[in-house]
Amino acid sequence: MFFLRVFLSALILLALPAAAEQVTLPRVAVIIDDLGYALAAGERAINLPGPVACAILPGTPRAIRLAEQAHASGKEVLLHLPLQAENDYDLGDAAEPGSLHLDMSQAEFAHTFIKDIEAVPHVIGVNSHRGSLLTRHPGHMNWLMEEIRDRGDLFFVDSYTTAASVALQLARETGVPAAKRDVFLDPDQSPETVAREFARLKKLAQQNGFALGIGHPYPATLAFLEKELPKLRNEGFELISISELVALTNATQNNNTGHAVAAPAGQ
Ligand SMILES: [Zn+2]
Repeated sequence: MFFLRVFLSALILLALPAAAEQVTLPRVAVIIDDLGYALAAGERAINLPGPVACAILPGTPRAIRLAEQAHASGKEVLLHLPLQAENDYDLGDAAEPGSLHLDMSQAEFAHTFIKDIEAVPHVIGVNSHRGSLLTRHPGHMNWLMEEIRDRGDLFFVDSYTTAASVALQLARETGVPAAKRDVFLDPDQSPETVAREFARLKKLAQQNGFALGIGHPYPATLAFLEKELPKLRNEGFELISISELVALTNATQNNNTGHAVAAPAGQ
């Protein structure tokens, strides 16, 4: 018995260095935003290879159908929550349904958020649509994070449309698991731009261990991801789900001051 124990201990000791040396691949996660209008583009996003998240705008014509299809296909579904942007005063009736605004009372804000979250089935997290105005306001971000926290196991992803966003900070202060976008894959719809930004996403993942890219259901973006996502493993990357990326972000947040990424103006 004693020898058996010694033998087993030796085996464990031998195994330990091997486990410690196990290489962790740089990890990337991808969200496709703005789903809910076009059915064909939405279905193409849902059919992307691997655990790509589908972020669906509430109250859009295809929101429920696409959320159901995404969930049935094993994709994680996010509520793509419309938050007021700096230039949204000009939009008038063209503003997204269910938008949250600066001039709402806390009761209106909470009521609208709850309607939004109930409008999209299978939601496991929330990410921001536009929001360059609202995400700068700590009071409103505090209301939002309290609502998210009170709904249970939801997380928040800051699409980070302004460098002045306090959304991530308020999420952490409220105890909501959260992460922030590193790269927009398609600031314009040319294949060259998507390729360049995807390369930047991989580089950030190599530098920081993991990185989050957000794309839109544009033909150039979808065609690129259909072709490139299956190659990631051979290139030495792991494609992970958004919930895994949020968990990683929260596990490392004490050692990580956040990635410095440029935020585009006006979204
Ligand atoms: Zn959006």
